[in-house]
Amino acid sequence: MSQTEIAPMRSFDLNAPGQTDAVTLYDKCIALANNLWWSWQPDVVNLFRDLDPIRWRQLDHNPIALLSEFNADRLELRVAELVLYSRINHAYRRLKEYLSTNQTWGNTHSGVLGSKPVAYFSAEFGMHESIPIYSGGLGVLSGDHVKSSSDLGIPFIAIGLFYDQGYFKQRLDHDGYQIEEYLDTKVENLPMQPAVGKDGRPLALTIETRSGVLHCKVWRMNVGRVQLYLLDCDVDGNSPEDRELTARLYGGDHRTRIRQELVLGVGGVRALRALGISPGVYHLNEGHSAFATLEAIRQMMEEDGLTFDDAMRDVARHTVFTTHTPVPAGHDRFDSGLIEEHLGPVRDRLGISHEQLMGLGRVEPHNGGETFCMTVLALKASRHANAVSSLHGHVSRRMWAHLWPWRVEEEIPIGHITNGVHVPSWLAHQMQQLYDRNFPVNWMGRMGEPEVWQMIHNVDPGELWETHHALKNLLLAFVRRRVSRDCRRRGEADDAVEAARNMLDPNVLTIGFARRFATYKRADLIATDIERMADLLNDPERPIQLIFAGKAHPADEPGKGLIRRVANLRHDPRFAGRVAFIEDYDINVARHMVQGVDVWLNNPRRPLEASGTSGEKVVLNGGLNLSVLDGWWAEAYDGKNGFSIGNGASHVSYEINDKRDAEDLYRVLKEQVIPLYYERDVDGLPRGWIKCMMNSISSLAWRFSAHRMVMDYVRSAYLPAAGGVSCVMHNR
Ligand SMILES: *Cc1c(COP(=O)(O)O)cnc(C)c1O
Repeated sequence: MSQTEIAPMRSFDLNAPGQTDAVTLYDKCIALANNLWWSWQPDVVNLFRDLDPIRWRQLDHNPIALLSEFNADRLELRVAELVLYSRINHAYRRLKEYLSTNQTWGNTHSGVLGSKPVAYFSAEFGMHESIPIYSGGLGVLSGDHVKSSSDLGIPFIAIGLFYDQGYFKQRLDHDGYQIEEYLDTKVENLPMQPAVGKDGRPLALTIETRSGVLHCKVWRMNVGRVQLYLLDCDVDGNSPEDRELTARLYGGDHRTRIRQELVLGVGGVRALRALGISPGVYHLNEGHSAFATLEAIRQMMEEDGLTFDDAMRDVARHTVFTTHTPVPAGHDRFDSGLIEEHLGPVRDRLGISHEQLMGLGRVEPHNGGETFCMTVLALKASRHANAVSSLHGHVSRRMWAHLWPWRVEEEIPIGHITNGVHVPSWLAHQMQQLYDRNFPVNWMGRMGEPEVWQMIHNVDPGELWETHHALKNLLLAFVRRRVSRDCRRRGEADDAVEAARNMLDPNVLTIGFARRFATYKRADLIATDIERMADLLNDPERPIQLIFAGKAHPADEPGKGLIRRVANLRHDPRFAGRVAFIEDYDINVARHMVQGVDVWLNNPRRPLEASGTSGEKVVLNGGLNLSVLDGWWAEAYDGKNGFSIGNGASHVSYEINDKRDAEDLYRVLKEQVIPLYYERDVDGLPRGWIKCMMNSISSLAWRFSAHRMVMDYVRSAYLPAAGGVSCVMHNR
């Protein structure tokens, strides 16, 4: 598939020669809104916002929804009023250039991928807050992977599911208890069109099961140069129950789950075939899509006349599997009945027995007591497997060592590629402008080079501090707006709403904590000893304040208990005005938080955080990490670029471990973080702190970007897989 192929835009073809002059302003805006490239271009984001700032916010920053409230005439008027002509033309020209250039890293480094692209499968994609088809870290990582693949010009296709209700919206009731709301997404307001097949007609796929046929359609979304295809079961021909199959992300029981994974894996490979795409690499991002390998084997057997064993070997050579889950309980498992019901028809065509199929998902193939594990299938059907940080690599090799009983642990074939973040998506505009002023021109195109980021040490400390402060103030204003709105919605007293409008102090050390409220992440670790916490927050000279956000999985009652505990701290007079909980954590909340905090707190039970990426977003914007030495931080912390909790050891007893970590958290805050922040020079600048910000940026930004991550995948996984050459990834 060529890099320059462009999806037909709503009303005209963006790439038709000579059409530019005839394209109206309205068409240009629609074209910009229909390619998610806009979402990582601050000037295009600002352009849309300027059209109507209030509606922009109310519409979840969705430009298609915004433009649908304008007609061409009203838009022309507004554009004239604000003198936006040249900005729109400029943005449109840049989009066209972006789509047509071949001056990319991928153009010179993708080799055989040019004719055989990477097909990247993921159950969720976090592209933007207005497209609710993600729940958290895994989805945001997939979104960042797609965006960096686009920027780098990698031949790349992404496959996922379209959830028309997405993940839930979070509200808290009077008691701080999480309430889940599912809203129907308006498809017409999303930047996607029905995908058309080789025959020019919208794709319609079927998947046989023992209990009936599943039908699905396919949507196509343009993410820069990359196409994201989303399968959707809400079509005529499906039972009412099956029409709802892809309605919600991670909703429903085991049967719903296996049916979703059948659609993603088997349906995804069929969609590629119907689109005329033959991938050179299948990249399974987590085990949810592992059934894709079975469908790929089937195609190969039927088309090339291979035996099952030969086809499986061949597919495995072309398959890359990334595991994200460091605990055995986190891996999908299905019983024999569900497997037969859903994979039976594929198995018939593979010519293997039910026991053989079950064996592919079992550590011990003949152990009838073992259920079918998607991760085991993915490991057996791929020659290139990786974890998502160095430490997680060790954990994964140990966890799956029994799959290769004849090997010593270091030789278990699971390597690692540490996760990174898409810099243009997470870097605040003000910070980008500071880098623009101080870094070499086109520094963004060279963001993988340490020398570029080294230049942060030449920036005037006052300029860096002021920029950070401006961003911190934006965060605090955002928190006050959201918290007071939520108080009003709950019908709280006027003085409570008023208090929320005035909470938090820009001169106080501000610590952010936002992530899924799973118990192992220990959101309330800092509240282990409530008296000590109160002392820290209310210190007359050197106080701190805390901002929390995060959702618990709907079925996770202990997680919801944690939310309630943290959210209700605000009712304690000792914490009033100093602790905030922002409801409905999503990409928008995350963006505000990672751009505005002084310190990002991360205190999971080691080694349960496979990588974590939110702290990497903080680095780009000048915040400092205060984290347990787990996931990415275990390989990032160097003693001068942030703060560590604990010494990298973990005790087998949760109780002892938690107690020690809490103790160390208080100690590090008191002895390191707080003094460094409040120690000011004659100009009122915290010199030591600013030095630490600079160390963090210069030592980490280039290493933990998604560009670096995707380049690593190309070099150590995609190219070997596409060439069919087996290559073991670095294990350490
Ligand atoms: C970055 C991000 C995450 C992942 O962060 P972790 O460090 O893995 O907790 C989750 N949710 C959202 C909305 C994000 O932006």
